[in-house]
Amino acid sequence: MSTIGFDTHDHAHCITDALQNAEMRCAEQKLQFTPVRRRVLEILLERHQALGAYDILDVLAQDGLGSQPPVVYRALDFLVQNGLAHRIERMNAYTACAHPGHDHVPAFLVCRLCKAVAEAETELIQGRLGSAAKATGFTIEKIVVEAEGVCPTCAQQAA
Ligand SMILES: [Zn+2]
Ligand SMILES: [Zn+2]
Ligand SMILES: [Zn+2]
Repeated sequence: MSTIGFDTHDHAHCITDALQNAEMRCAEQKLQFTPVRRRVLEILLERHQALGAYDILDVLAQDGLGSQPPVVYRALDFLVQNGLAHRIERMNAYTACAHPGHDHVPAFLVCRLCKAVAEAETELIQGRLGSAAKATGFTIEKIVVEAEGVCPTCAQQAA
């Protein structure tokens, strides 16, 4: 299980690499990576954090890229549909994908104090849920794994 988000890493690199990667993938798939879509992904990448659509809209408005909610929602839909970002259901928030470019089932570790997000990967058929599905002949199509807790930074500050 690899996670990105709570570890220390070269964050400047992490943003440029991810944006370049997204540009390449969009070009390959003939998808339009418009300035707004690019900026929304960049905003998500800048913080390894769960962001609500309105948090993103605030930044976009400051940039002069748009102040209407549909602009943000359309950009987020694009990013989610093309595997560049994920929606965190229980928080109604979004985060950049840490493993774009391959099919995966994301599993999130979300800090309830600072909203930092780490993304791990899981599988549709795994553990007890997988066994239960197998035993009953149920086909799992989607699972949502979102763990809430305290990240290492916040735990350190509390100590
Ligand atoms: Zn980073
Ligand atoms: Zn992902
Ligand atoms: Zn935290």
